Amino acid sequence: MTTDNGHSGGCLCGAVRFRVERIHLTGINCYCEMCRKAHGGAFSTHVPMRRDQFVLTSGSLAVFNSSAEGRREYCPDCGTHVLVHGQTADGSVAVPAGTFDGDPPISLVSHIFVRDKVGWYEIADDLPQFDGWPPGVVNTHPA
Ligand SMILES: [Zn+2]
Ligand SMILES: [Zn+2]
Repeated sequence: MTTDNGHSGGCLCGAVRFRVERIHLTGINCYCEMCRKAHGGAFSTHVPMRRDQFVLTSGSLAVFNSSAEGRREYCPDCGTHVLVHGQTADGSVAVPAGTFDGDPPISLVSHIFVRDKVGWYEIADDLPQFDGWPPGVVNTHPA
C-alpha cells in the first residue's frame, strides 16, 4: 500500500510489518550467489535506503550473518527476508522489493554482480550492468 510519505510491506505470514519512509523507490538487481540462495531466484531486487527510513511496525526479525560484514534479517516464522545490512560502508540498508505491499512504482537502475548470473536467465533491458559493485560504492567486504 502506498501512502503520501512512504510505503508499507511485510513478510509472507504477516507477523512482520514495516513502513519505508521514503517516497521514491529505486531497485538494483543483484545476481550474487548469496542473493540467489537467500531468495531462491535468479536474482534479488534490492531497494536501498537509509537505515532510519525503515520502520518495523510489528513483529520481530531474526538475524542471519551471511558474510563477514553483511547480515540479513528475516521473519522467524515464515523465513521471508525483509532487510539486508552491510552491503556498503555508508550504513545503508536494502529491502527486497517483493516484500512491499501491492505494486508500488520502483525504478530499476542497474544490475550488479552480473559475473555470478546463472546461464538460464537473460537480462533483457539496457540498464547498466556491473560485474561486482558499481564504481564508487565502498563495500565493506571483499567482492
Ligand atoms: Zn512471516
Ligand atoms: Zn547479492
